[in-house]
Amino acid sequence: MISKLIKRLRCKRSKTKYIGYYLDTERPGVMRTHHIHECRECGKRIYH
Ligand SMILES: [Zn+2]
Repeated sequence: MISKLIKRLRCKRSKTKYIGYYLDTERPGVMRTHHIHECRECGKRIYH
């Protein structure tokens, strides 16, 4: 478990795959699309 945590901390997120997206309200009436990527190595999700 600890090694997994270290791997996560050292992860450069160079190998990511596209998961999908979600919509968020930036301000009333304005929707923003956030793209979700997941790291292939540690499974961490990156939101843009
Ligand atoms: Zn990673």
